[in-house]
Amino acid sequence: MYADVLIEYSAKAIDKTFTYLIPDNLKDDIKVGIKVLVPFGNKIINGFVVKIKNDYEAVYELKEISSIVDKHLVLNDELMQMGAYLQKVTLCTKITAYQTMLPSSLKIKEHKTSYSKYLVYIKLVANYLDVQQYICDHPRRKKQIEVLNRLLKEGKVLKSNFDLVIVKQLLNEKLIEEEKEQIYRINNSVITDCKLSLSKEQEQVLKSIELGKEDVYLVHGVTGSGKTEVYMQLIEKVVKMGNTAIMLVPEISLTAQIINNFYNRFGNDVAIFHSALSEGEKYDEYLKILRGEVHIVIGTRSAIFTPLTKLGIIIIDEEHSETYKQDSNPRYSAIDMAKFRCHYHKIPLVLGSATPSLESMARAQKGVYKYLVMSKRIGNAVLPKVFLVDMTEEMKRRNTVLSTSLKDKILDRLRKKEQVILLLNRRGYATFITCRNCGYTYKCPHCDITLTYHKSSNSLRCHYCGYALIKDDACPQCKQKSLANLGVGTEKLEQEINRLIPEARTIRMDADTTRNKGAHEDIIKRFKNYEYDILLGTQMIAKGLNFPLVTLVGVINADATLNIPDFRSGERTYALLSQVAGRAGRSDKPGEVIIQTMNPDNFTLKCVAAHDYKQFYNYEMVNRHKLDYPPYYYLTSVKIASKDYDLAAKEINKVKKYLENKISEHSKILGPTTAAMFKLNNIYRFQIIIKYKKDDSLFKALKDLDELYMLNTKVNIEIDNNPLQV
Ligand code: ADP
Ligand code: ZN
Repeated sequence: MYADVLIEYSAKAIDKTFTYLIPDNLKDDIKVGIKVLVPFGNKIINGFVVKIKNDYEAVYELKEISSIVDKHLVLNDELMQMGAYLQKVTLCTKITAYQTMLPSSLKIKEHKTSYSKYLVYIKLVANYLDVQQYICDHPRRKKQIEVLNRLLKEGKVLKSNFDLVIVKQLLNEKLIEEEKEQIYRINNSVITDCKLSLSKEQEQVLKSIELGKEDVYLVHGVTGSGKTEVYMQLIEKVVKMGNTAIMLVPEISLTAQIINNFYNRFGNDVAIFHSALSEGEKYDEYLKILRGEVHIVIGTRSAIFTPLTKLGIIIIDEEHSETYKQDSNPRYSAIDMAKFRCHYHKIPLVLGSATPSLESMARAQKGVYKYLVMSKRIGNAVLPKVFLVDMTEEMKRRNTVLSTSLKDKILDRLRKKEQVILLLNRRGYATFITCRNCGYTYKCPHCDITLTYHKSSNSLRCHYCGYALIKDDACPQCKQKSLANLGVGTEKLEQEINRLIPEARTIRMDADTTRNKGAHEDIIKRFKNYEYDILLGTQMIAKGLNFPLVTLVGVINADATLNIPDFRSGERTYALLSQVAGRAGRSDKPGEVIIQTMNPDNFTLKCVAAHDYKQFYNYEMVNRHKLDYPPYYYLTSVKIASKDYDLAAKEINKVKKYLENKISEHSKILGPTTAAMFKLNNIYRFQIIIKYKKDDSLFKALKDLDELYMLNTKVNIEIDNNPLQV
């Protein structure tokens, strides 16, 4: 018997399989998907068995597989197929695909001895008479006798209870032996919570989702409509039928509360899987899943690859979230992977959101997805009142950070002993120019995205189509000489708020303050315990959190998101602001939201203020249609990166010419232009954007292109299908 083995050799992935002989002693255990060690050159390296065959005409002498790495570690048929699918849609190598699907403690590349954690016990080998004999023979070995007597009485005892020298001596004399018991680092066996009786809307949604049938559902539920309870009851039904469930959540700051809800409801039947776990914890959780010890997996993007069998449902909460797309190689979308698994098992996929992505909503409108609505908040809670504050007016009064009305409302909440959330949304990486006086920003007339300011040439450029102009001295709209770059970082804003309202107890949550493990949970817990009045933070604080005392939400600078040069900036702004607004007034006290902006007439912001997703959707779809953006067209971006500016510029033109000759005549290529992050670590990046509806030849051309550049050490190619940012 022979096996085709996919191997990883040195730093560069050789995306090829090699045939090995299966030695007799391994015949019974070798199967497709198992991890093995094989000789390669003069080394022994890791590999994956991808095919087993009876006949093979070897042209050279075959080597034998050396050993199996881990008997349990087998990618089953579904996972093998998913790897192939992952490779196909992202154009990555096979080995990258399989590596992406495994936690790094189990990656093919290097296999650490073991991540398993054990409790070590000792117990007697000797029987009662042997022990008595020992006592007679060695009456002065008091400590040894003590150990033996205790083991006689108690059976097995934790090794750490005894003096290790004594234990070692008894082990050597073969009077006792060790027994290892594997333990999991994460353990939650107490169930404290039972299901709630559902509202009419919740009931309706639960009833509409048909188990055991392949369908995609879009659950469009306003913030606070009780989506989590519906998810839990759906999963309960699935588990009662003996099946399993995956639920994806967008990021770890959100996961904390949801994971607790699930532990309280399902106890040890839940495994969690996200990047903030230690390698050891991940290993344990993966093992629980592999051994079939849990029915429910909750986690972030990569949890979609966990090896649950008998899947009954996949739920993706906050489906519009960008974290479901990986922004490094392989650039996969967890939603695509979920669709693959749901198709494999013929089961429902549930996408939930208060602000569905335009792509998903468009599919729901066409009937491709089944559309389910939850329009009311649970109980008596109502959606908060949202006010737009014109910062051009405030600037004239020198209020650059806090408008008068936001400051007054914060002071009012402090008096009432209620809490405040302030969103200090970070500016994008690109600089844009705004008029201090009238709020004007430069946009590309062809692509409707904000132009990026290039200081060196004093120019404003569109990085989709290359349109450029020289920055004026005066604002083109109001003719005042008040064009400026109005960006302030989070830390500075925090200082300002501390200066303006020194009596408030504030805590900040952003990438800097949450670097340590458990920092997120800690901040959330302390804010919930009312140790602070104000929680300030970036996007991180916007979603999912439930704080009953919060009655005011302030958005410091809505333009920061609005002006990110990307065709999705409107959609993103709508989602982010609706989410953060949704943090206010979630219990009996009504909430208020203040959005500060230089552009109070902006249509997207007006829709946010009116809680009118439909209106926003219709408006945005018209724009997308006009300019051939998704969901009307698909996009693929191709970037060329190099330390050598001229070379990169030359290659991107070559790439464009190459693709022009290969793709369908209905597809379009924009650019080449400088990429949004043009110069990063001294590497220059140029890009082209391909817009297409249906183009069978495109993927083949891209794959060929990717292979052409694979061995080129001077330039790198990055191909991203359905990129989040272009
Ligand atoms: P969403 O995810 O839709 O924003 P949540 O799931 O956070 O909303 O629910 C909002 C609040 O309502 C939570 O505190 C939740 O415990 C509560 N809740 C949900 N369903 C019910 C119900 N049927 N009865 C009572 N309270 C509920
Ligand atoms: Zn343009």
